Amino acid sequence: AKQEGRNRYCFFAIELEQELMKRQQLESRLRHALKKHELVVLYQPKFKLSTQEIVGAEALVRLLDEKGQFISPADFIPLAEESGLIVELGKQVMLKACEHMKFLSAKGFDLPISVNVAAAQFSSAELEQDIKDALAFNMIPAKLLELEITETALMVDAQATQHKLEQLKLLGIDISIDDFGTGYSSLSYLKKFKVDIMKIDMSFVRDMLNNKHDFEIVKTIISLGHSMGLKLVAEGVETLEQQNALSTLGCEIGQGYLFSKPISAEQLLRLLEK
Ligand code: C2E
Ligand code: CA
Ligand code: CA
Ligand code: CA
Repeated sequence: AKQEGRNRYCFFAIELEQELMKRQQLESRLRHALKKHELVVLYQPKFKLSTQEIVGAEALVRLLDEKGQFISPADFIPLAEESGLIVELGKQVMLKACEHMKFLSAKGFDLPISVNVAAAQFSSAELEQDIKDALAFNMIPAKLLELEITETALMVDAQATQHKLEQLKLLGIDISIDDFGTGYSSLSYLKKFKVDIMKIDMSFVRDMLNNKHDFEIVKTIISLGHSMGLKLVAEGVETLEQQNALSTLGCEIGQGYLFSKPISAEQLLRLLEK
């Protein structure tokens, strides 16, 4: 039994070591990309459900591995958050997004772009200045920029959040609550915080047509949002049936593989030109 225990211990130790190595590699990959400004930013368009027109796009970051393949943000965003690199990452994504807004604008498309903001980035004292700089440098009006923030990130320091949101609103930036309904928070913050948009999390959309509870949740989020004067965006729309159901429930905007995967700024331009 003792021998067995030791073997198991070795097994875990090896796994742990491999895990640590993978993490270290990923972190050095990320540091390198940040140093060289090599992060890639893709855009997933948002569609007005009633007309199918593109009304905006979300910036989604990608890291390249040594073979030039995309590493998913699901793998490196948590690492960036733990290692403190997330603030610099967020700043670079913001800058790229503004550059791409300028690129699209030069082609005649003033498309609103949303950028994901992590909790640590939202709390950072430089957020507002970084945004102002990125906008000014590319001569982009603040009203074209939208920030996607999770309720969890908003709740870290409710007092500071309220002030920050007011400052951002003064600039003319729209605020969207990302993954609405999945965080641990009370709804009372909705009264206090000035937000403009709710994004219905894809976990609810995915099962809304085969799970009665998910359907009711989606329906409730939409009516809650509307009663507060907010715009609704559904993420993860993959089927026509979901699109129709969301539309019937009054959701204005959809995003998901049914319409488009995240694509490059050049591909987005081609889609807009169609
Ligand atoms: P998110 O903000 O909730 O973004 C939606 C994710 O769902 C994206 O994954 C998108 O590619 C994916 N998606 C879109 N439509 C569909 C669909 O129809 N079906 C399915 N199954 N998935 C769909 P992605 O790009 O891998 O990003 C994952 C998460 O990483 C994002 O979730 C966001 O939390 C984070 N992230 C991405 N870019 C950034 C960034 O620049 N900054 C920060 N702080 N976080 C980011
Ligand atoms: Ca998002
Ligand atoms: Ca989301
Ligand atoms: Ca989500």
